[in-house]
Amino acid sequence: MSQASQDFDEDRVVKELKFSPESVLEHVRPHPVLSNKLTSEQKIEKIAKSFAEILETLGLDLNNESIKKTPQRVAKMYVNEVFAGLKSDAFPKITVIENEMAYDQMVLIDNISILSCCEHHFATIDGKARVAYIPNKRVIGLSKINRIADFFSRRPQVQERLTKQIADSLCYILDTKDVAVSITAKHYCVASRGVQDEASLTTTCDLRGSFKHDARTRSEFVSHGSK
Ligand SMILES: [Zn+2]
Repeated sequence: MSQASQDFDEDRVVKELKFSPESVLEHVRPHPVLSNKLTSEQKIEKIAKSFAEILETLGLDLNNESIKKTPQRVAKMYVNEVFAGLKSDAFPKITVIENEMAYDQMVLIDNISILSCCEHHFATIDGKARVAYIPNKRVIGLSKINRIADFFSRRPQVQERLTKQIADSLCYILDTKDVAVSITAKHYCVASRGVQDEASLTTTCDLRGSFKHDARTRSEFVSHGSK
């Protein structure tokens, strides 16, 4: 191999850093959970029993063909899908690479789908997130930001905590304070009960580092996409 091609090959080696779910979650503000040591299978079994009781109490006929398997369906959906973000091993595999291009402007991902569940009423939270950061020494694959937002959404949540947990994890992974997260969402507990306002939306923001202290960076984030 010629000297030139050796140099080229060496240039192609981009330094990568991988994170274990545990190390990331240690740096994210805690969720109100108690470890009960149950396996996923045990959780599904217990929830199915409890949910059957709820349906019975509501007066539904559990022998009806259409309803018969609902407790089992709901239990599986809770443990494996809707609340999968309570299991640390469901945290996405994250790799960051060295910011070798020295990119030092805002990276912004808009329109990230957020589908969560309000922990007060167990009703759907349906919204969009906007996430931005200014790279320090690390950059992250863009789809990983969507996956991180999705992981923390798959928990019984309040929107304020969800916003902060996404920001906490990115600050740690990217080793920077220059992170901004904003979520605008419709809460079905507000739409279908209480005030029954179907149109209202809730926005939460966590602006850190230069997004908090520098008016220009902040307005670049806040006004992105608006005319
Ligand atoms: Zn609610």
